[in-house]
Amino acid sequence: MNDNAAHPLKLFNSLSRQMVTFAPVHPGEARVYTCGPTVYNYQHIGNMRAYIFADLLGRTLSWKGHILTHIINITDVGHLTSDADAGDDKMEKAAAQSGKSAWDIAQYYTNAYWKDIERLNIRQPAKWAVATDHVEEMIAFAKSIADKHCYELDSGLYFDVSTVPDYGRLAGAQSDDIEGRIDTVEGKRNPQDFAIWRKTPMGETRQMEWDSPWGKGAPGWHLECSQMSIKYLGETFDIHTGGIDHREIHHPNEIAQNQAHNCSEHSGANIWMHNNFLIDRAGKMSKSSGDFLRLQVLIDRGFHPLAYRMMCLQAHYRSELEFSWDNLVAALTRLKRIVMGVERLLQKAETNAAAIEHPALIALQDKFDAALSEDLNSSKSLPLLEELLTLKKLPADQRLTLLSEMDSVLGLELSSLTRTALRVRPMDAEVDETAIEAKLDQRQKAKSEKDFATADIIRDELTAQGVELMDGDPLRWDWKIEL
Ligand code: AMP
Ligand code: ZN
Repeated sequence: MNDNAAHPLKLFNSLSRQMVTFAPVHPGEARVYTCGPTVYNYQHIGNMRAYIFADLLGRTLSWKGHILTHIINITDVGHLTSDADAGDDKMEKAAAQSGKSAWDIAQYYTNAYWKDIERLNIRQPAKWAVATDHVEEMIAFAKSIADKHCYELDSGLYFDVSTVPDYGRLAGAQSDDIEGRIDTVEGKRNPQDFAIWRKTPMGETRQMEWDSPWGKGAPGWHLECSQMSIKYLGETFDIHTGGIDHREIHHPNEIAQNQAHNCSEHSGANIWMHNNFLIDRAGKMSKSSGDFLRLQVLIDRGFHPLAYRMMCLQAHYRSELEFSWDNLVAALTRLKRIVMGVERLLQKAETNAAAIEHPALIALQDKFDAALSEDLNSSKSLPLLEELLTLKKLPADQRLTLLSEMDSVLGLELSSLTRTALRVRPMDAEVDETAIEAKLDQRQKAKSEKDFATADIIRDELTAQGVELMDGDPLRWDWKIEL
């Protein structure tokens, strides 16, 4: 525990629509559940924004001295093409389209997702809770609430939302307007009732199906998050996160199930937090729109993945963030300036474990704490990091210690990231960097000998290879590949 608890952590609770002070259920701990990916396809960079946000939350809680237990689930069964009970099973549909098994598809996209998690320096949760590993327990959960809260139709077991108090409080006024609420299943008692068990239709076989008291079938999507969050974090835990779309259907349904299971009015989590969307000019980035940007596309275009993390941190998580290549370039350039400052600091400092004693640094640390404590205001915290790098007259060891602390929250790998690692290098450029550097040395030598003709020839050769020289670039980038 360090002194970073000076400012109480205030978080915006979507449920009460108010800023609340974080007060852990178990003193000294923080238990957080994050809705994870549905693994029938790649996650796009909008989805990844949701995990960068959850990671910022987890890192802030840890920095402020809480022992963090973070659970992220992997939805490998049960999510239909609509968030309400309409459409096809996303996994089965992907399997039918690709000719692969639903299990193989789930594993493939889970691995791709984990790779992106690592590339964005998102910390590993205490557990990746995989839905298909918990189906028996989900059936037990459903059994425990079936009598009082559910009814059976030909298509499955449905939750009657009128049996719990204040259904849909989280969604608020918007809940009636949205498309997903339209009653699409014959026989539902209330339009918002939802399946907690979906029976395999007569005469069909699903790749993913289990026996249950209601016949062969698969769990409803919402059931997994209730069951796994309660299993790993307890009936009442601290924080539940997800993208803002979950505020409308998925989380209200989880809350209803939690209330039924816990026999109380409490929603299960004390605080419900939602990140806003990453949008592009066409609107919200979504997988159903077919063409979507994933992290690999950014990397293929030559961008370091942490430039995208930086781009997300520059915005508050509750604001919409527009993706554009220009914004990404701006974030990369900012990151590069910071990294250059850190490189200079690393040359001066000997340790990142010095006690922070200088009053100006203590004041900066306090401001950083205040910014993060104000509903994770990462955009406000970044200029403080930049300010720290300008305070060159202050003790280097203490500055490096504070920098490491700040980076333990921001997760930009500032002590190991190098200027050259951030160079834009598109995958299809096929450049031999050693050869380019050698040519640059030759050109430098020619220039120092005032042999400008040779220097120009070398420049032309490099230009022909798509390498743009950046003489006089304030960031000392030296060269880049034409995008
Ligand atoms: P999914 O794999 O569709 O279940 O989504 C994974 C996570 O990404 C969920 O928390 C969603 O709410 C979130 N999400 C989906 N689209 C976006 C977006 N465009 N921007 C930010 N978060 C999103
Ligand atoms: Zn969920």
